[in-house]
Amino acid sequence: MQDVCVFCGSSEGQDPVYMQAAKALGEAISERSLGLVYGGAQVGLMGQVADAVLAGGEKVVGIIPQSFAHKVSHAGLTQLHVVDSMHTRKAMMFELAGACIALPGGFGTLEELTEVLTWAQLEFHQKPIGLLNINGYYDALLAFFDYAVLAGFIKPKHLQLLIVDDDPTKLLQRLQEYKPPAQSKWSD
Ligand code: AMP
Repeated sequence: MQDVCVFCGSSEGQDPVYMQAAKALGEAISERSLGLVYGGAQVGLMGQVADAVLAGGEKVVGIIPQSFAHKVSHAGLTQLHVVDSMHTRKAMMFELAGACIALPGGFGTLEELTEVLTWAQLEFHQKPIGLLNINGYYDALLAFFDYAVLAGFIKPKHLQLLIVDDDPTKLLQRLQEYKPPAQSKWSD
């Protein structure tokens, strides 16, 4: 597996368990000698995961839009790309990584996660996508996804595109062992 793209909150969350999980994920990434690709900010869970990967001696590449780069950019990254828009940023984050993981976060994280899932179900890519479900944060979202299957808007096989775990090391292991499904969205 190449570098890992992490989507996560620009906030810290109320419970310290979220910052601890971001640190643990960064440590697990660097322990496997992988690099990190992320949104380039120094704030919230984003800054924490980046600091943990840097502390482990591995590469961290940040990609951030020009409009707010001066406000929140992390100053100590291996590489920081300042780009023209959120669209360019998301495309570049995805291109530079071999896998994506979402930690807890808000609208930005949800948008990034569901975008790469949409691209996977359309077979634009076969990169593994993980969800680190810390403290049951995503239980309600996962229940909604099950409901969307029941309601006929998500195919059961496409739920399997999302690999869910509550342990960073196990999640990385599962992403490294991931075999993409053979069937197409359009084949049935
Ligand atoms: P959110 O989950 O709403 O906090 O948004 C976090 C995600 O959206 C990150 O993975 C970033 O790529 C992007 N993002 C949203 N807000 C910011 C911010 N203030 N600084 C940097 N990136 C952000």
